[in-house]
Amino acid sequence: MIEKALPFSASEIKKAVDEYETPFYLYDEKGIRENARRFKAAFSWVPDFREYFAVKATPNPHILKILHEEGFGADCSSLAELVLCERCGIVGHDIMFTSNNTPSEEFRKARELGAIINLDDISHLPFLKECAGLPELLCFRYNPGESRSGNFIIGEPKEAKYGLTRAQLTEAYKTARDWGVKRFGLHTMVASNELDSSFFIETARMMFEIAVELRKELGIRLEFLNLGGGIGIPYKPGEKPVDYMEVSEGIRDAYNRLIVANSLDPIGIYFECGRVITGPYGVLVSKVIHKKETYKNYVGLDACMVNLMRPGMYGAYHHITVLGKEDWPHDHMYDVTGSLCENNDKFAIDRMLPRIDIGDIVVIHDTGAHGYSMGFNYNGKLKCAELLLKQDGKVKMIRRAETLDDYFATLDFEGLCETGCARSA
Ligand SMILES: *Cc1c(COP(=O)(O)O)cnc(C)c1O
Repeated sequence: MIEKALPFSASEIKKAVDEYETPFYLYDEKGIRENARRFKAAFSWVPDFREYFAVKATPNPHILKILHEEGFGADCSSLAELVLCERCGIVGHDIMFTSNNTPSEEFRKARELGAIINLDDISHLPFLKECAGLPELLCFRYNPGESRSGNFIIGEPKEAKYGLTRAQLTEAYKTARDWGVKRFGLHTMVASNELDSSFFIETARMMFEIAVELRKELGIRLEFLNLGGGIGIPYKPGEKPVDYMEVSEGIRDAYNRLIVANSLDPIGIYFECGRVITGPYGVLVSKVIHKKETYKNYVGLDACMVNLMRPGMYGAYHHITVLGKEDWPHDHMYDVTGSLCENNDKFAIDRMLPRIDIGDIVVIHDTGAHGYSMGFNYNGKLKCAELLLKQDGKVKMIRRAETLDDYFATLDFEGLCETGCARSA
Protein backbone atom coordinates (compact mmCIF):
# COMPACT_ATOMS: atom_id res chain seq x y z
CA MET A 1 0.00 0.00 0.00
CA ILE A 2 1.54 3.29 -1.11
CA GLU A 3 0.26 6.11 1.10
CA LYS A 4 -0.38 9.39 -0.68
CA ALA A 5 1.06 12.53 0.87
CA LEU A 6 -1.37 15.16 2.17
CA PRO A 7 -0.67 18.86 1.71
CA PHE A 8 -1.18 19.21 5.49
CA SER A 9 0.33 17.66 8.56
CA ALA A 10 -1.97 15.55 10.73
CA SER A 11 -1.66 18.14 13.51
CA GLU A 12 -2.74 20.97 11.19
CA ILE A 13 -5.87 19.02 10.28
CA LYS A 14 -6.56 18.09 13.93
CA LYS A 15 -6.29 21.72 14.91
CA ALA A 16 -8.87 22.68 12.31
CA VAL A 17 -11.15 19.83 13.47
CA ASP A 18 -10.92 21.09 17.07
CA GLU A 19 -11.95 24.55 15.99
CA TYR A 20 -14.53 23.93 13.25
CA GLU A 21 -17.38 21.50 12.77
CA THR A 22 -16.94 18.78 10.19
CA PRO A 23 -17.37 18.37 7.33
CA PHE A 24 -15.27 21.16 5.82
CA TYR A 25 -12.88 21.84 3.01
CA LEU A 26 -9.35 22.87 3.90
CA TYR A 27 -7.08 24.58 1.35
CA ASP A 28 -3.36 25.23 1.56
CA GLU A 29 -2.36 28.78 0.59
CA LYS A 30 1.36 28.04 0.52
CA GLY A 31 0.92 25.00 -1.72
CA ILE A 32 -1.32 26.93 -4.12
CA ARG A 33 1.12 29.85 -4.37
CA GLU A 34 4.19 27.67 -4.86
CA ASN A 35 2.47 25.62 -7.53
CA ALA A 36 1.28 28.77 -9.33
CA ARG A 37 4.86 30.05 -9.40
CA ARG A 38 6.19 26.74 -10.74
CA PHE A 39 3.58 26.76 -13.49
CA LYS A 40 4.41 30.30 -14.56
CA ALA A 41 8.15 29.78 -14.34
CA ALA A 42 7.97 26.76 -16.64
CA PHE A 43 6.63 28.98 -19.43
CA SER A 44 8.85 32.00 -18.87
CA TRP A 45 10.19 31.67 -22.44
CA VAL A 46 6.73 32.46 -23.89
CA PRO A 47 6.56 36.10 -25.03
CA ASP A 48 3.04 36.51 -23.59
CA PHE A 49 2.14 33.70 -21.20
CA ARG A 50 -1.04 33.73 -19.19
CA GLU A 51 -2.95 31.28 -17.04
CA TYR A 52 -6.63 32.07 -16.59
CA PHE A 53 -7.73 30.03 -13.57
CA ALA A 54 -10.99 28.20 -14.29
CA VAL A 55 -13.23 29.84 -11.69
CA LYS A 56 -15.71 26.94 -11.68
CA ALA A 57 -13.02 24.73 -10.12
CA THR A 58 -12.88 26.68 -6.84
CA PRO A 59 -15.14 29.75 -6.93
CA ASN A 60 -14.04 31.35 -3.67
CA PRO A 61 -12.96 35.01 -3.57
CA HIS A 62 -10.00 34.26 -1.27
CA ILE A 63 -8.65 31.63 -3.65
CA LEU A 64 -9.21 33.88 -6.69
CA LYS A 65 -7.43 36.71 -4.92
CA ILE A 66 -4.40 34.54 -4.11
CA LEU A 67 -4.14 33.43 -7.74
CA HIS A 68 -4.66 36.97 -9.02
CA GLU A 69 -1.79 38.09 -6.79
CA GLU A 70 0.31 35.39 -8.45
CA GLY A 71 -0.47 36.95 -11.83
CA PHE A 72 -3.26 34.65 -12.96
CA GLY A 73 -6.36 35.79 -14.76
CA ALA A 74 -9.77 34.16 -14.38
CA ASP A 75 -11.67 31.97 -16.81
CA CYS A 76 -15.41 32.47 -16.44
CA SER A 77 -18.35 30.73 -18.04
CA SER A 78 -21.39 32.14 -16.28
CA LEU A 79 -22.92 35.33 -14.93
CA ALA A 80 -22.17 34.34 -11.32
CA GLU A 81 -18.52 33.71 -12.15
CA LEU A 82 -18.25 37.08 -13.91
CA VAL A 83 -19.81 38.90 -10.96
CA LEU A 84 -17.60 36.99 -8.52
CA CYS A 85 -14.53 38.22 -10.41
CA GLU A 86 -15.86 41.76 -10.56
CA ARG A 87 -16.34 41.71 -6.79
CA CYS A 88 -12.75 40.49 -6.35
CA GLY A 89 -11.46 43.35 -8.51
CA ILE A 90 -10.64 41.05 -11.42
CA VAL A 91 -11.84 42.77 -14.60
CA GLY A 92 -10.88 43.62 -18.18
CA HIS A 93 -8.51 41.29 -19.99
CA ASP A 94 -7.81 39.52 -16.70
CA ILE A 95 -11.05 37.70 -17.51
CA MET A 96 -11.45 35.16 -20.29
CA PHE A 97 -15.13 34.49 -20.89
CA THR A 98 -15.38 30.96 -22.29
CA SER A 99 -19.05 30.05 -22.25
CA ASN A 100 -21.41 27.99 -24.35
CA ASN A 101 -25.11 28.24 -25.14
CA THR A 102 -24.65 31.72 -23.69
CA PRO A 103 -27.61 33.86 -22.53
CA SER A 104 -27.53 37.46 -23.76
CA GLU A 105 -27.23 38.96 -20.25
CA GLU A 106 -23.96 37.05 -19.78
CA PHE A 107 -22.49 38.49 -22.97
CA ARG A 108 -23.60 41.94 -21.84
CA LYS A 109 -21.92 41.51 -18.45
CA ALA A 110 -18.73 40.20 -20.07
CA ARG A 111 -18.67 43.22 -22.39
CA GLU A 112 -19.36 45.59 -19.47
CA LEU A 113 -16.36 44.14 -17.60
CA GLY A 114 -14.17 44.32 -20.70
CA ALA A 115 -13.48 40.56 -20.60
CA ILE A 116 -11.88 38.70 -23.50
CA ILE A 117 -14.82 36.98 -25.14
CA ASN A 118 -14.32 33.48 -26.50
CA LEU A 119 -17.18 32.44 -28.79
CA ASP A 120 -18.36 28.83 -28.80
CA ASP A 121 -20.24 28.99 -32.09
CA ILE A 122 -20.34 30.86 -35.37
CA SER A 123 -23.96 31.87 -34.68
CA HIS A 124 -22.79 33.66 -31.54
CA LEU A 125 -21.10 36.26 -33.71
CA PRO A 126 -24.36 37.93 -34.89
CA PHE A 127 -25.91 37.13 -31.47
CA LEU A 128 -23.15 39.00 -29.61
CA LYS A 129 -23.21 41.85 -32.14
CA GLU A 130 -26.93 42.21 -31.58
CA CYS A 131 -27.08 41.94 -27.79
CA ALA A 132 -23.85 43.57 -26.62
CA GLY A 133 -21.90 44.81 -29.62
CA LEU A 134 -18.62 43.37 -30.90
CA PRO A 135 -15.39 44.03 -29.02
CA GLU A 136 -12.09 44.93 -30.68
CA LEU A 137 -10.57 41.58 -29.63
CA LEU A 138 -12.42 38.32 -30.17
CA CYS A 139 -11.57 34.65 -29.70
CA PHE A 140 -13.17 31.51 -31.13
CA ARG A 141 -13.25 28.02 -29.66
CA TYR A 142 -12.12 25.27 -32.01
CA ASN A 143 -13.44 21.71 -31.88
CA PRO A 144 -11.08 19.45 -33.86
CA GLY A 145 -13.76 16.76 -34.33
CA GLU A 146 -12.46 13.50 -35.72
CA SER A 147 -8.92 14.79 -36.15
CA ARG A 148 -8.30 14.43 -32.41
CA SER A 149 -9.36 11.84 -29.89
CA GLY A 150 -10.39 13.03 -26.45
CA ASN A 151 -10.09 11.29 -23.12
CA PHE A 152 -12.46 9.68 -20.65
CA ILE A 153 -13.98 12.66 -18.83
CA ILE A 154 -14.33 15.08 -21.74
CA GLY A 155 -15.12 12.42 -24.36
CA GLU A 156 -14.54 12.44 -28.11
CA PRO A 157 -14.36 15.95 -29.63
CA LYS A 158 -16.85 15.03 -32.36
CA GLU A 159 -19.41 14.13 -29.68
CA ALA A 160 -18.73 17.30 -27.69
CA LYS A 161 -21.13 20.25 -27.79
CA TYR A 162 -18.30 22.77 -27.74
CA GLY A 163 -16.61 24.84 -30.38
CA LEU A 164 -16.58 25.52 -34.12
CA THR A 165 -15.51 23.18 -36.90
CA ARG A 166 -12.34 23.96 -38.81
CA ALA A 167 -14.31 25.27 -41.81
CA GLN A 168 -16.47 27.46 -39.55
CA LEU A 169 -13.35 28.98 -37.98
CA THR A 170 -12.19 30.46 -41.28
CA GLU A 171 -15.69 31.78 -41.93
CA ALA A 172 -16.01 33.22 -38.42
CA TYR A 173 -12.72 35.15 -38.50
CA LYS A 174 -13.55 36.47 -41.95
CA THR A 175 -16.98 37.70 -40.88
CA ALA A 176 -15.67 39.13 -37.63
CA ARG A 177 -13.02 41.08 -39.51
CA ASP A 178 -15.61 42.34 -42.01
CA TRP A 179 -17.69 43.51 -39.04
CA GLY A 180 -14.81 45.51 -37.61
CA VAL A 181 -13.10 43.17 -35.15
CA LYS A 182 -9.41 44.03 -35.17
CA ARG A 183 -7.66 41.51 -32.93
CA PHE A 184 -8.02 37.75 -32.69
CA GLY A 185 -7.35 34.77 -30.47
CA LEU A 186 -8.00 31.05 -30.85
CA HIS A 187 -9.06 28.60 -28.16
CA THR A 188 -9.50 24.88 -27.80
CA MET A 189 -9.97 22.36 -25.01
CA VAL A 190 -9.75 18.70 -25.87
CA ALA A 191 -8.72 17.00 -22.64
CA SER A 192 -9.82 16.74 -19.07
CA ASN A 193 -7.73 15.33 -16.23
CA GLU A 194 -5.06 14.24 -18.70
CA LEU A 195 -1.72 13.14 -17.21
CA ASP A 196 0.15 12.59 -20.48
CA SER A 197 2.31 15.65 -21.31
CA SER A 198 2.43 14.76 -24.99
CA PHE A 199 -1.33 15.40 -25.23
CA PHE A 200 -0.82 19.11 -24.49
CA ILE A 201 2.18 19.36 -26.78
CA GLU A 202 0.09 17.85 -29.58
CA THR A 203 -2.71 20.34 -28.88
CA ALA A 204 -0.26 23.23 -29.07
CA ARG A 205 1.14 21.89 -32.35
CA MET A 206 -2.38 21.63 -33.78
CA MET A 207 -3.11 25.23 -32.75
CA PHE A 208 0.17 26.53 -34.18
CA GLU A 209 -0.68 24.91 -37.50
CA ILE A 210 -4.07 26.62 -37.56
CA ALA A 211 -2.40 29.95 -36.79
CA VAL A 212 -0.18 29.41 -39.83
CA GLU A 213 -3.14 28.39 -42.02
CA LEU A 214 -5.30 31.36 -40.99
CA ARG A 215 -2.44 33.68 -41.79
CA LYS A 216 -2.23 32.17 -45.27
CA GLU A 217 -6.01 31.98 -45.85
CA LEU A 218 -7.07 35.36 -44.48
CA GLY A 219 -3.94 37.29 -43.64
CA ILE A 220 -5.07 37.27 -40.01
CA ARG A 221 -2.48 37.33 -37.23
CA LEU A 222 -3.64 35.65 -34.07
CA GLU A 223 -2.50 37.37 -30.87
CA PHE A 224 -2.84 34.37 -28.62
CA LEU A 225 -3.60 30.68 -28.56
CA ASN A 226 -5.56 29.47 -25.54
CA LEU A 227 -4.88 25.78 -25.00
CA GLY A 228 -7.68 25.44 -22.44
CA GLY A 229 -7.47 23.49 -19.21
CA GLY A 230 -7.45 19.78 -18.61
CA ILE A 231 -4.03 19.14 -17.09
CA GLY A 232 -4.65 16.22 -14.77
CA ILE A 233 -3.49 15.46 -11.25
CA PRO A 234 -2.41 12.16 -9.70
CA TYR A 235 -5.54 11.15 -7.84
CA LYS A 236 -4.29 7.59 -7.37
CA PRO A 237 -1.23 6.59 -5.38
CA GLY A 238 1.65 5.91 -7.75
CA GLU A 239 0.40 8.20 -10.54
CA LYS A 240 2.85 10.89 -11.60
CA PRO A 241 2.01 14.59 -11.82
CA VAL A 242 2.39 16.29 -15.19
CA ASP A 243 5.87 17.77 -15.50
CA TYR A 244 5.30 21.42 -16.43
CA MET A 245 8.84 21.69 -17.83
CA GLU A 246 8.27 18.72 -20.12
CA VAL A 247 5.04 20.25 -21.47
CA SER A 248 6.74 23.61 -21.85
CA GLU A 249 9.80 22.24 -23.67
CA GLY A 250 7.65 20.23 -26.07
CA ILE A 251 5.52 23.30 -26.83
CA ARG A 252 8.64 25.40 -27.26
CA ASP A 253 10.01 23.03 -29.85
CA ALA A 254 6.75 23.15 -31.85
CA TYR A 255 6.65 26.96 -31.41
CA ASN A 256 10.07 27.27 -32.99
CA ARG A 257 9.24 24.91 -35.84
CA LEU A 258 5.87 26.44 -36.69
CA ILE A 259 5.46 29.93 -35.22
CA VAL A 260 9.01 31.26 -35.42
CA ALA A 261 9.77 29.54 -38.74
CA ASN A 262 6.66 31.11 -40.31
CA SER A 263 7.42 34.57 -38.89
CA LEU A 264 4.38 34.55 -36.60
CA ASP A 265 6.44 35.17 -33.46
CA PRO A 266 5.51 36.60 -30.98
CA ILE A 267 2.20 34.94 -30.20
CA GLY A 268 0.76 34.52 -26.70
CA ILE A 269 0.13 31.14 -25.14
CA TYR A 270 -2.66 30.90 -22.60
CA PHE A 271 -4.04 28.14 -20.41
CA GLU A 272 -7.23 28.03 -18.42
CA CYS A 273 -6.47 25.22 -16.01
CA GLY A 274 -8.42 24.68 -12.83
CA ARG A 275 -7.74 21.22 -11.48
CA VAL A 276 -3.95 21.23 -11.61
CA ILE A 277 -3.78 24.67 -9.97
CA THR A 278 -5.74 23.99 -6.79
CA GLY A 279 -6.82 20.32 -6.90
CA PRO A 280 -3.97 18.77 -4.89
CA TYR A 281 -4.01 21.62 -2.36
CA GLY A 282 -7.45 21.03 -0.90
CA VAL A 283 -9.00 18.22 1.13
CA LEU A 284 -12.47 17.38 2.40
CA VAL A 285 -12.37 16.58 6.11
CA SER A 286 -15.21 14.51 7.49
CA LYS A 287 -16.09 12.46 10.56
CA VAL A 288 -17.30 8.85 10.78
CA ILE A 289 -20.77 8.82 12.33
CA HIS A 290 -21.93 5.26 11.66
CA LYS A 291 -20.70 1.80 10.82
CA LYS A 292 -22.96 -0.77 9.25
CA GLU A 293 -22.43 -4.43 8.48
CA THR A 294 -24.86 -6.14 6.11
CA TYR A 295 -23.92 -7.80 2.82
CA LYS A 296 -20.99 -5.38 2.79
CA ASN A 297 -19.22 -3.28 5.39
CA TYR A 298 -20.12 0.38 5.36
CA VAL A 299 -18.59 3.43 6.96
CA GLY A 300 -20.95 6.42 7.09
CA LEU A 301 -19.53 9.95 7.04
CA ASP A 302 -21.03 13.27 8.04
CA ALA A 303 -20.22 14.40 4.47
CA CYS A 304 -22.15 13.22 1.44
CA MET A 305 -22.27 13.61 -2.33
CA VAL A 306 -23.56 17.17 -1.81
CA ASN A 307 -20.05 18.03 -0.57
CA LEU A 308 -18.16 16.07 -3.23
CA MET A 309 -19.81 14.70 -6.35
CA ARG A 310 -16.93 13.32 -8.37
CA PRO A 311 -16.92 9.75 -7.01
CA GLY A 312 -20.71 9.39 -7.39
CA MET A 313 -20.88 11.15 -10.74
CA TYR A 314 -17.81 9.80 -12.55
CA GLY A 315 -16.79 6.89 -10.36
CA ALA A 316 -13.72 9.04 -9.73
CA TYR A 317 -11.06 7.81 -7.33
CA HIS A 318 -10.22 10.03 -4.38
CA HIS A 319 -7.63 8.75 -1.97
CA ILE A 320 -8.76 8.49 1.64
CA THR A 321 -6.61 8.82 4.74
CA VAL A 322 -7.92 7.89 8.17
CA LEU A 323 -6.22 10.40 10.43
CA GLY A 324 -3.86 8.88 12.97
CA LYS A 325 -4.09 5.44 11.31
CA GLU A 326 -1.78 6.17 8.38
CA ASP A 327 0.59 3.40 9.41
CA TRP A 328 -2.01 0.82 10.38
CA PRO A 329 -2.41 -2.20 8.09
CA HIS A 330 -5.02 -1.49 5.40
CA ASP A 331 -6.74 -4.83 6.01
CA HIS A 332 -10.42 -3.85 6.10
CA MET A 333 -12.59 -3.43 3.04
CA TYR A 334 -15.28 -0.72 3.21
CA ASP A 335 -17.75 1.23 1.17
CA VAL A 336 -17.41 4.80 2.44
CA THR A 337 -20.81 6.45 2.13
CA GLY A 338 -22.76 9.65 2.57
CA SER A 339 -26.37 9.94 3.68
CA LEU A 340 -28.29 10.71 0.48
CA CYS A 341 -31.13 8.47 -0.62
CA GLU A 342 -29.02 7.61 -3.64
CA ASN A 343 -27.00 4.43 -3.77
CA ASN A 344 -24.19 6.13 -5.70
CA ASP A 345 -23.62 8.45 -2.73
CA LYS A 346 -20.33 6.73 -1.98
CA PHE A 347 -16.85 8.22 -1.69
CA ALA A 348 -15.22 4.83 -2.17
CA ILE A 349 -16.33 1.30 -2.99
CA ASP A 350 -14.48 -1.82 -1.81
CA ARG A 351 -11.63 0.35 -0.50
CA MET A 352 -8.94 -1.27 1.64
CA LEU A 353 -8.50 0.91 4.74
CA PRO A 354 -7.33 0.53 8.30
CA ARG A 355 -10.01 -0.55 10.79
CA ILE A 356 -12.34 2.40 11.15
CA ASP A 357 -14.13 3.42 14.33
CA ILE A 358 -16.95 5.85 14.91
CA GLY A 359 -15.50 9.32 15.50
CA ASP A 360 -12.49 8.78 13.23
CA ILE A 361 -11.51 11.70 11.03
CA VAL A 362 -11.44 10.82 7.35
CA VAL A 363 -9.52 13.03 4.93
CA ILE A 364 -10.50 12.87 1.26
CA HIS A 365 -7.58 13.93 -0.90
CA ASP A 366 -7.27 16.13 -4.00
CA THR A 367 -10.56 17.93 -3.63
CA GLY A 368 -9.20 21.46 -4.07
CA ALA A 369 -10.82 21.72 -7.53
CA HIS A 370 -14.23 20.60 -8.79
CA GLY A 371 -15.01 19.60 -5.21
CA TYR A 372 -17.07 22.10 -3.24
CA SER A 373 -18.13 23.86 -6.42
CA MET A 374 -19.92 20.93 -8.03
CA GLY A 375 -22.11 20.40 -4.99
CA PHE A 376 -25.85 20.61 -4.98
CA ASN A 377 -28.64 20.46 -2.41
CA TYR A 378 -30.38 17.14 -3.02
CA ASN A 379 -32.29 15.84 0.00
CA GLY A 380 -31.92 19.37 1.40
CA LYS A 381 -28.39 18.50 2.50
CA LEU A 382 -26.40 21.63 3.17
CA LYS A 383 -23.08 22.67 1.72
CA CYS A 384 -20.20 22.82 4.18
CA ALA A 385 -17.65 25.47 5.12
CA GLU A 386 -14.37 26.19 3.33
CA LEU A 387 -11.25 26.91 5.37
CA LEU A 388 -7.87 28.22 4.30
CA LEU A 389 -4.61 27.36 6.01
CA LYS A 390 -2.79 30.63 5.53
CA GLN A 391 0.93 31.03 5.06
CA ASP A 392 1.30 32.23 8.65
CA GLY A 393 -0.07 28.88 9.89
CA LYS A 394 -3.48 30.24 10.93
CA VAL A 395 -6.73 28.75 9.70
CA LYS A 396 -9.28 31.19 8.30
CA MET A 397 -12.86 30.41 7.40
CA ILE A 398 -13.33 31.61 3.82
CA ARG A 399 -16.91 30.42 3.43
CA ARG A 400 -19.33 29.52 6.19
CA ALA A 401 -21.46 26.41 6.04
CA GLU A 402 -24.99 26.79 4.72
CA THR A 403 -27.81 26.91 7.23
CA LEU A 404 -31.40 25.75 6.93
CA ASP A 405 -32.37 29.41 6.61
CA ASP A 406 -30.18 29.66 3.49
CA TYR A 407 -31.84 26.57 2.10
CA PHE A 408 -35.36 27.81 2.80
CA ALA A 409 -34.66 31.38 1.71
CA THR A 410 -36.32 30.97 -1.69
CA LEU A 411 -39.49 29.41 -0.32
CA ASP A 412 -42.66 31.20 0.65
CA PHE A 413 -44.33 29.82 3.78
CA GLU A 414 -46.73 32.76 4.19
CA GLY A 415 -50.21 31.72 5.26
CA LEU A 416 -49.42 28.01 5.25
CA CYS A 417 -49.44 27.58 9.00
CA GLU A 418 -51.77 29.42 11.37
CA THR A 419 -49.61 28.94 14.43
CA GLY A 420 -46.62 30.86 13.12
CA CYS A 421 -44.50 27.80 12.46
CA ALA A 422 -43.39 29.44 9.18
CA ARG A 423 -40.90 31.46 11.21
CA SER A 424 -39.44 28.62 13.22
CA ALA A 425 -36.95 27.31 10.64
C1 LIG B 1 -13.71 23.11 -16.98
C2 LIG B 1 -13.00 23.98 -17.92
C3 LIG B 1 -11.67 24.36 -17.68
C4 LIG B 1 -10.87 23.84 -16.54
O1 LIG B 1 -10.64 22.48 -16.64
P1 LIG B 1 -9.62 21.75 -15.63
O2 LIG B 1 -9.83 20.30 -15.94
O3 LIG B 1 -10.05 22.11 -14.26
O4 LIG B 1 -8.26 22.24 -15.94
C5 LIG B 1 -11.09 25.25 -18.57
N1 LIG B 1 -11.76 25.73 -19.63
C6 LIG B 1 -13.03 25.38 -19.89
C7 LIG B 1 -13.69 25.97 -21.06
C8 LIG B 1 -13.68 24.49 -19.06
O5 LIG B 1 -14.94 24.15 -19.33
